[in-house]
Amino acid sequence: MPKEKPELSDAMRAKMSGKTPVKNPINGTRFTIAISSAKGGVGKSTFATNLALALKQVGCKVGLLDADIYGPSIPKMFGINEKPKSDGQKLEPIVKYDIQCMSIGFLTDQQTPMIWRGPMVTSAIKTFTQKVNWKDLDFIIVDMPPGTGDTQLTFSQEIKMDGAIIVSTPQEVALLDVKRGIKMFDKLGVKILGLIDNMSYFTGDDGKKYKIFGEGGVKKTADEFKKEFLGEIPINSEIGKTGDNGKPIVESNPNHEISKIYLEFANKIKSTYL
Ligand code: ADP
Repeated sequence: MPKEKPELSDAMRAKMSGKTPVKNPINGTRFTIAISSAKGGVGKSTFATNLALALKQVGCKVGLLDADIYGPSIPKMFGINEKPKSDGQKLEPIVKYDIQCMSIGFLTDQQTPMIWRGPMVTSAIKTFTQKVNWKDLDFIIVDMPPGTGDTQLTFSQEIKMDGAIIVSTPQEVALLDVKRGIKMFDKLGVKILGLIDNMSYFTGDDGKKYKIFGEGGVKKTADEFKKEFLGEIPINSEIGKTGDNGKPIVESNPNHEISKIYLEFANKIKSTYL
């Protein structure tokens, strides 16, 4: 039996031939911002969706790309059940809340697990970055899968990435992985815009702040690696409820104190790039 040749990415081929890999911007997009977390369940998709909506509110044209092939969240968080149209060449993003969206979850049954090998993931990411009709976007917010795997590599090596934000919770186990994430982006030459401390505290009925997952760890990690600490987002049940209902808090209640935090982040990103 002839041996199957392993599939090589463009970046790997370029590396082997000694050439500098070409990094393409995402078609139709000015700036690509990755939202990353080292661990699952820390609130990365919640942050990505609300940041995208906040950027729209401050006047930017925004796309949201769900790059979490194994665990897409955007269909649920944005309440999207339709399938994207295609002309056989390109996929049309689905527009919801004035945001152009794409997710593997639009193309598959929500409960079907994606059992794919690395090269298939790489190919899906390429389709989403090069074969979607993204139109006139100032920013595309990319919701990355957790960890440091194929998707991160494909993005960092083959696509022009303008910045990454790392979301973490304050627990020690999460922070360990954050350090790995910082090192990965540094190694791949992607600028880290900063770290977010999500679920940093809970305000009780008595008005006191309870730091149930520990205190100051994300900021300490940012300082240790000379990265910016972007700020804290407290635990708030409205965040969970609105996300589960398909209309994230920034869209459903833009005057909420939590929405104002996201709007501040959005203004900061807008003034950094535009
Ligand atoms: P990840 O993308 O990192 O896996 P998610 O964004 O899916 O994490 O969030 C995991 C769960 O935590 C969701 O149910 C979400 O609504 C909830 N969540 C995220 N951030 C907060 C927060 N600051 N306060 C309360 N719940 C939150």
